[in-house]
Amino acid sequence: EQIKIQGKVVAITGASSGIGEAIAKHLAKLGAKVVLGARRTDNLKTITGAIIAQGGQAVYKSLDVTDQQDVASFAKFATEQYGTLDVFINNAGLMPLSMINAYKIKEWHQMIDVNVKGVLHGIAAALPIFEAKDSGQFVNITSVGDRWVGPTSTVYSATKFAVRAISDGLRQEVSENIRVTLVAPGATQSELAETISDPELKKQAIEKFRINLLPAEAIARAVAYAIEQPADVDVNEIVVRPTAQK
Ligand code: NDP
Repeated sequence: EQIKIQGKVVAITGASSGIGEAIAKHLAKLGAKVVLGARRTDNLKTITGAIIAQGGQAVYKSLDVTDQQDVASFAKFATEQYGTLDVFINNAGLMPLSMINAYKIKEWHQMIDVNVKGVLHGIAAALPIFEAKDSGQFVNITSVGDRWVGPTSTVYSATKFAVRAISDGLRQEVSENIRVTLVAPGATQSELAETISDPELKKQAIEKFRINLLPAEAIARAVAYAIEQPADVDVNEIVVRPTAQK
């Protein structure tokens, strides 16, 4: 049985730029009804407008993934708009890289709140909907940093290691009709480096990845691949790096 993306209701957190925006646009092109969430509603309005102008179906809602109630309302909004929810994509994330001994403790908290608690809030919001109909799919966007740590990425990697653990555990706990997919991008074009507050580290990060970044659409295609598989095929994990990143 070939499950098409056509007609699926897909909610995406962090859809106001970068990878989330690319996922929303790509899946809408393939016929999904996409529900976009993020804090920058001006961006969401523009992106949704562009999708609709191309004949796609899209709605948006203001969303802060650190607020559990807000994420629950976001999932409910998707079902109200389109009658059901088929895929929930936990994509929102921050990457304020820094050395531990710079003690950017507020940024550690932000990363844990968005990258880890945000994902748990997404699961708490969508899983009851999926369990009620015994079908659904989570796509959790981690990073190659979900299995690799380097200087300045300690806390960021810790949050992504956590999301990998959460995804693996979730897959084993839920019904076989609920799929859990992890997509781990390498260096990808987006606004992510903007979250680095240390000007020198931000410069280094941008310099390091100036050449051969993946277009965000490459990650969107990986997400589409996982969604379009037959219902009894669970693509557990996809890792995508630009060829220049080893
Ligand atoms: P962007 O900075 O372009 O996008 C991040 C998105 O997260 C934005 O839409 C932002 O929206 C949203 N976001 C941040 N905080 C919140 C919040 N509290 N509530 C809701 N949404 C929030 O970067 P990317 O597209 O690169 O990031 C997407 C994901 O990809 C992240 O999880 C990131 O860790 C991961 N990733 C990216 C890589 C890369 O090289 N680009 C590599 C590996 C992983 P807003 O500010 O409007 O709320």
